[in-house]
Amino acid sequence: MTETIFSKIINRELPADIVYEDDQVLAFRDISPQAPVHVLVIPKLEIATANDIRPDQAELVGKMVLAAQKIALDEGIAEDGYRLVMNCNRHGCQEVFHLHLHLIGGRQLRGISAG
Ligand code: AMP
Repeated sequence: MTETIFSKIINRELPADIVYEDDQVLAFRDISPQAPVHVLVIPKLEIATANDIRPDQAELVGKMVLAAQKIALDEGIAEDGYRLVMNCNRHGCQEVFHLHLHLIGGRQLRGISAG
């Protein structure tokens, strides 16, 4: 897999506002936030897209979701709610080809649209 800017963030070659880290998962604030809280949760393992998740990596993906749950609590948005989004490839508007979960909240979000 080609190295992405997210690998550079994992390796501390690029700065990021890191809000959560454990041995397998890293989370940092999106550089172009779409809401008051906009955090990207990524695996440290290089996985390009949702298409590339293998069955034996299901626990890792679960850990990404649990990290997002914890960050939402820490950010004080858990009770009001938030959105978790994983974009895949061109039609999903994926720009960075290192798997990531967007945690978006802190305001009333619009209903999800088809386009
Ligand atoms: P996606 O379109 O799902 O691939 O989302 C990629 C996200 O990465 C976008 O929301 C960008 O704003 C965000 N992003 C790109 N570069 C950086 C960076 N250096 N630090 C934090 N977020 C970034």
